[in-house]
Amino acid sequence: MRGRSIEVEGEAPFDIRKFGDPVLRTRAGEVDDIDGTLVRVVDDMLETMYAEPGLGLAAPQVGISKRLFVYDIGEGPHAIVNPEIVESDGEWAFEEGCLSVPGLSWEIIRPKEIHLIGYDLDGNEVSIEADELLSRCFQHELDHLDGKLLIDHLEGEIRKEAMRTVREIFLGGL
Ligand SMILES: [Zn+2]
Repeated sequence: MRGRSIEVEGEAPFDIRKFGDPVLRTRAGEVDDIDGTLVRVVDDMLETMYAEPGLGLAAPQVGISKRLFVYDIGEGPHAIVNPEIVESDGEWAFEEGCLSVPGLSWEIIRPKEIHLIGYDLDGNEVSIEADELLSRCFQHELDHLDGKLLIDHLEGEIRKEAMRTVREIFLGGL
């Protein structure tokens, strides 16, 4: 007997959408209601993120085109609904990867500090001054809500090379 159809126990609730999936290139819509359904989605997103593991996961990465992301940079799980960056400052280069473009990473320059606002799962407004890794995580996840991917931040030859590589890996060389 072959074991091919046996389900792996503890499998993540969601499959992560990979480069080439149109949902990753779509601007996600605002979340209208923070309700029980959304809370369950967040729980499943966190479980999926921890299974990878990842520091952050945006709803479009699990096929849900809504403005929502989860994250944990080592200080516990959080979710932000309808996030917005209202201020950014400085520059910081960081080797960045993405669960939707697995196995690859690039050094990407982004603002070092940002001020992010949004809502938590209780519907309360949140306002977070983020620096370095947290700031990077927020900017990366917010990009996903706007249909952007990390390679969009690369320029010139590095971008061309990166596009060639991801097309080869995820689109079978097309
Ligand atoms: Zn990502």
